[in-house]
Amino acid sequence: MEMTPRRWQDTCQYLSDVFGRVDGPSGDAQLATLMPRAVAAGLPDIAVSHDVGRLLKLLTQTATHDAASTGVVIELGTLAGYSGIWLARGLPASGRLITVEYEPEHARFASAEFERAGVGDCVEVIIGAALDVLPRLAERLGPRSIDMAFLDAIKTEYERYAAILTPMLRPGGLLVADNALGSGSWWIDSPPGTSPERDAVDRFNRTVAGNPGFQTACVPIRQGVLIARKTD
Ligand code: SAH
Ligand code: MG
Repeated sequence: MEMTPRRWQDTCQYLSDVFGRVDGPSGDAQLATLMPRAVAAGLPDIAVSHDVGRLLKLLTQTATHDAASTGVVIELGTLAGYSGIWLARGLPASGRLITVEYEPEHARFASAEFERAGVGDCVEVIIGAALDVLPRLAERLGPRSIDMAFLDAIKTEYERYAAILTPMLRPGGLLVADNALGSGSWWIDSPPGTSPERDAVDRFNRTVAGNPGFQTACVPIRQGVLIARKTD
């Protein structure tokens, strides 16, 4: 199946070459080798790309370095810690990333990578299913307590994640979702009814885009990143 036209593939290569660099500051050798090491350890190869990682860091910096910031970011779906390290690197010194992962082996791998990246002290890894953990976090942190949430766990649950997270976001906070346009097994232009994930994400995209409580855009890098800013 031709999911992306040739010109778009070339554009993706350009984006990766120009904006997806992981060389430079010390420690980036860790990021460059992280997913190959995770895959060798038996984890699935489904992390975001370097250019999406850079976008996540930029969004975290934007959300957490503001007079109204709380310094708290939540991630759903830790995997090997790849996206989490980018998120953590965007935090202020007093900031905190809470990341939720269902598979204990993934959480263990990620925790070691957070330590190695020097962000272990500001990252809390919670093992559990997002829909079990989120109500507890809502109770613990309260409303308007977080600057940003990054959704990357179960696609058919995105709408329910957003329903719990929206009151937790401070005004001006960001709801960010990976796979807004596709994944390895479906793409958004597939016919409705061919994939429950596609249909759920399509519904989620339309719900957020149509919600007057958010300003929403979708950045079509890799498999699409939805970015929604909660209205002040
Ligand atoms: N954000 C990561 C990739 C996450 S892949 C990155 O880009 O680096 C999705 C992860 O969600 C997997 O590790 C999977 O084990 C985890 N997961 C699956 N079901 C979950 C659930 N119900 N709650 C939380 N995490 C879940
Ligand atoms: Mg993803």
